[in-house]
Amino acid sequence: MIKKREFYIDGAWVAPASPRDHDVINPSNEDPCAVISLGDQADTDAAVAAAKSAWPAWRATDPSARVAIIEKFLEQYEARKEEMAQAISLEMGAPITLARNSQATSIPWHTQGFLDAAKNFQWVKDAGEHAPNDRLSYEPIGVVGLITPWNWPMNQVTLKVIPALLAGCTCVLKPSEEAPLSSMLFAEFLHDAGLPAGVFNLVNGDGLGVGTQLSEHKDVQMISFTGSTRAGRAISKAAADTMKRVTLELGGKGANLIFADADDKAVKRGVLHMMNNTGQSCNAPSRMLVDRTVYDQTLEIARETADSIKVGTPTEEGRHIGPVVNKRQWDQIQGLIETGINEGARLIAGGPGLPEGVNRGYYVRPTVFADVSNDMTIAQQEIFGPVLSIIPFDSEEEAVRIANDTEYGLTNYVQTQDAARANRLSLQLESGMVEINGQGRAQGMPFGGKKSSGRAREGGAFGLEEFLEVKSISGWINT
Ligand code: NAD
Repeated sequence: MIKKREFYIDGAWVAPASPRDHDVINPSNEDPCAVISLGDQADTDAAVAAAKSAWPAWRATDPSARVAIIEKFLEQYEARKEEMAQAISLEMGAPITLARNSQATSIPWHTQGFLDAAKNFQWVKDAGEHAPNDRLSYEPIGVVGLITPWNWPMNQVTLKVIPALLAGCTCVLKPSEEAPLSSMLFAEFLHDAGLPAGVFNLVNGDGLGVGTQLSEHKDVQMISFTGSTRAGRAISKAAADTMKRVTLELGGKGANLIFADADDKAVKRGVLHMMNNTGQSCNAPSRMLVDRTVYDQTLEIARETADSIKVGTPTEEGRHIGPVVNKRQWDQIQGLIETGINEGARLIAGGPGLPEGVNRGYYVRPTVFADVSNDMTIAQQEIFGPVLSIIPFDSEEEAVRIANDTEYGLTNYVQTQDAARANRLSLQLESGMVEINGQGRAQGMPFGGKKSSGRAREGGAFGLEEFLEVKSISGWINT
């Protein structure tokens, strides 16, 4: 079994102040695959103190020197990317092909977007012709606490650590205790890239321990959090007394609007997108809203597509889906499938229980419900598993109303060949992101939501600015 009990503090791997073992469970066979430690207040304090003492020198470095270190970090990733894919696959169950091609590659994808933004960033800007002697100075906020989930572990860690460092902040990362191995490897990449001691620190722990300690800490100026809406609320409250900045990326309940003139692949694409990563994506299109004139044929394609999805072990190559992350998640998904049935939704694919022939591991059947109404629990609550709800609509106005009738507002999707309608709807949907006809965002475009999905904007220049504070300077002397 892998033993990784140390934390990365002040440039070295150090033993926890008081040992508290935690098993990392392999979701494909329910066996422990690694043991880590959960930190306590003394570990959190040591990491924050290291970050605090490293900050004056780090913030004073030329931005080009920070860029050079992050470029070296990318070289480390390139040399060890297979190790990274294996770590992700082991800890959270992503099939190895997905871990290699989507999960691990989120590291270079986002890092490149941040490097481009940092190279072009104007750290001191003119304020405009109306204020010739004013300047705007963009300055690092200080020591930042970064708290991340298990579902796309490297996507979330990269979206926080890399812009924080490029901005000139120092940081303490608390990765998910469910998926800490990839983050510990990420720390090794930074170390081997030559990052000065104390600039980046990692303490493993749970939400009530290290997560809360960072949120309350007087020497932490900002918490950047990705995870559940429940934890986002708790962090906001814990952070309030110290007035720190809190940025939140939370849950979602995305609507995918399928109009009668949608392209031939739209329904299949929507189902596959929903089931990708075994449904464990905050931006999953989990409510498919369908024009009633094409409802029956849509249900048929959705059923066929879901039935064609194979469920298999993470170590096997291929496009199958793996298990969900843990027993708690499995139980929650099963409970919500039962609730869907009890509230009157019509099951057209999958259903409760383990897939046929499986008796071990947290596997779920790709499940599709038809005739869902938007007030049902399965249409309102984030399921975070491979479960799609299909809801009919009779008009464009009704589709928009249903799409927006949710506490969440992360990503919505529109499928239509009518350009005017696509653009019009993209402006009416209440979410931080809208994707039209399967087109993904370009590198560096901001990722983030509205309402209970949180209001952070991560990626590229927007993501860099999250870690900067604007200083207004008047009386600047032009030289
Ligand atoms: P979670 O909220 O249980 O845990 C996320 C992280 O927060 C973990 O590191 C955990 O230890 C920590 N944490 C938990 N409670 C805490 C507390 N009270 N104080 C401080 N830290 C605390 O979420 P999860 O189960 O790991 O991830 C799934 C959730 O994350 C889903 O709701 C999903 O939608 C959301 N998510 C959102 C985005 C996004 O960008 N919007 C991306 C990925 C995941």
